[in-house]
Amino acid sequence: MDHFLSDRIQSLPQSATLAMHQQTMDLKAQGHDIINLSIGEPDFKTPLHIQQAAKEAIDSGAYFGYPPVAGYADLREAIAEKLRKENNIPCKPNQIVVSNGAKQSIANVFSCLLNPGDEVVVYAPYWVSYISMIALAGGKPVPIIGELANDFEATPQQLDRAITPKTKAVIFSNPCNPTGHLFAKKTVEAMAAVVQKHDHVLVIADEIYEYINFVGEQTSIGALPGMEGRVVTINGFSKGFAMTGWRVGYMAAPLWLAKACEKFQGQTTSAASSIAQRAALAAMQGGRKEVVRMKEAYCKRRSLCLALLAEIPGLRCNKPLGAFYLFPEVRDYFGCTNGKTTIHNADDLCIYLLREAHVSVVTGSAFGAPSCIRISYAIDEEQLQIALQRMKEALLKLTKAA
Ligand code: PMP
Ligand code: GLU
Repeated sequence: MDHFLSDRIQSLPQSATLAMHQQTMDLKAQGHDIINLSIGEPDFKTPLHIQQAAKEAIDSGAYFGYPPVAGYADLREAIAEKLRKENNIPCKPNQIVVSNGAKQSIANVFSCLLNPGDEVVVYAPYWVSYISMIALAGGKPVPIIGELANDFEATPQQLDRAITPKTKAVIFSNPCNPTGHLFAKKTVEAMAAVVQKHDHVLVIADEIYEYINFVGEQTSIGALPGMEGRVVTINGFSKGFAMTGWRVGYMAAPLWLAKACEKFQGQTTSAASSIAQRAALAAMQGGRKEVVRMKEAYCKRRSLCLALLAEIPGLRCNKPLGAFYLFPEVRDYFGCTNGKTTIHNADDLCIYLLREAHVSVVTGSAFGAPSCIRISYAIDEEQLQIALQRMKEALLKLTKAA
């Protein structure tokens, strides 16, 4: 009966991050000792005051009905205030649409913006789902590729060259999933200058890793002069507040687009969960002590992983300034074998590492960088140490095939 499925869904690949995560969980359930460095998911518990707010929301009995489609008014107000105060983004509560995770916010934006054939410039390496979401909405992704030598940062010239009359938007994540790269102020300014030359182009700035930033400086493109009305800022609670399962994210968009996304969401999923929204309000209004504590832990893990990775021959890595990923280039292992398995590409290497080292990582090809692999270090230091040791031992078994 597969042929009953739409062309749209038949041509849609599975999310590589979720697929690798699921495969890992299945293997673990069968009793295999796999260390999971595949999914980008904090290992911390949601801070207690946020959990408490959700419990209180249930106990109050006041939050069992459908919430307003774009989110509770007080949550939209708190988000708008956060964006004004922390990010200098001018915005009002009616520009905020709360969704089931930032993932839905991004999908809403593409669904509301794109006609068949419209183009979206995507900074590569990119987060895996951008490409599929653009395609699902009928658009055409146009990657611009950043190289390791340039910290994986595509240049403003590349952006300028990629923009055509069909371009509707450009999307990037900052800090970046999968590279951990942080786009510096001057880069974001240069990006804004290019966009300002092209009236028909919006920027979608995915700032979901904002709080996992090891140097402090975060430039929101939506805050820059001349960018008002030109930027959709995406953010959410999953990463910074360790709330992946609660499924709350949001966009701050120009009013016309926020209204369209609200209409779209009203016809597709309605609002994000009421109880999760009350928890998200507590996250917004509470302090950032826990957020900082988690960031500091990630920062220590990054140093540990970089040091351990440096001991493995043939891996080259940037020094990420944010998020919780390392994205080493692994091409030196292409054409290598352990006598039984030959590694042709990053996909093969990930399978090899899963089988031989019992460590799961994600192939760079899912992120538009086929000579890299992504390592998520959102797990404790002890496990990281074991995982990288196992990876090292497995990789040392590979030699150039004759
Ligand atoms: N953007 C990026 C760059 C991500 O890594 C993720 C990870 N899930 C998301 C958006 C979506 O996050 P969520 O839907 O959990 O809010
Ligand atoms: N964003 C995370 C990742 O890249 C979670 C999985 C997903 O939503 O794709 O691993």
